[in-house]
Amino acid sequence: MRKKIVAGNWKMNQDLESGKALFAEIVNGAKQEITGEQLVVVCPPSIILSELANSAKDSSNVFVGSQNCHQKDSGAYTGEISAAMVKSTAAEYVILGHSERRQYFGENEELLAQKVDAALKNGLKPIFCIGETLEERNSNRYFEVIKSQLEGGLFHLTAEQFADIVLAYEPVWAIGTGLTASPEQAQEIHAFIRAELAKKFGQEAADNATILYGGSCNPGNASSLFSQQDIDGGLIGGASLKAGDFLAIIKALN
Ligand code: PEP
Repeated sequence: MRKKIVAGNWKMNQDLESGKALFAEIVNGAKQEITGEQLVVVCPPSIILSELANSAKDSSNVFVGSQNCHQKDSGAYTGEISAAMVKSTAAEYVILGHSERRQYFGENEELLAQKVDAALKNGLKPIFCIGETLEERNSNRYFEVIKSQLEGGLFHLTAEQFADIVLAYEPVWAIGTGLTASPEQAQEIHAFIRAELAKKFGQEAADNATILYGGSCNPGNASSLFSQQDIDGGLIGGASLKAGDFLAIIKALN
């Protein structure tokens, strides 16, 4: 049975006080909005992860995650945070491969594969992001780009390890731009991803994989995206910073 998830990526927004207030609204609202097995994952800046993770301990459907982790266990890597440190805050998830990390911090598939390993070794569930740029879409190379991101970042895993991965298809041209993939465009890629997963890890693993859509998802378009057969929820940026919008997106998952 696939997990349905709405995850919020706060990026470099919210300090301790505003983050605690926003998170409390989300936890309280989620109690009302979630009627089934759906999960909410909030990924705040790392500096407030511990505070939020502690306050979510009693919640059965809201979890927290980091927006990144380092590939090494420890050492002289000034400013970095290891997967073990993230896990020690009671966080359960970590976003890896976000297009902003790929674009601004030069993260490539080789590095991301190491980060995936570090996360899994430390008991974190990676939310692994993949997606094509506008240029790659317009030149009809998006299937090959998605395939090579899957192969490079995840296809060294066993099917057992892969069971802890959540995938997020996020077309780069839709992130923070107000442009959203149409439900049909998103479904086409999600179905392709699931077929590639079936070839690599087997049909059962592919059927059980949670594949989120991300890219300007909002209360107005969430239902039509989430009703697609292979879309199991969303990774939400801008709209996760407003409790009302985020809760409306969570409601669209029902
Ligand atoms: C994201 O950053 O993962 C994202 C999907 O952002 P937005 O919802 O703002 O497009």
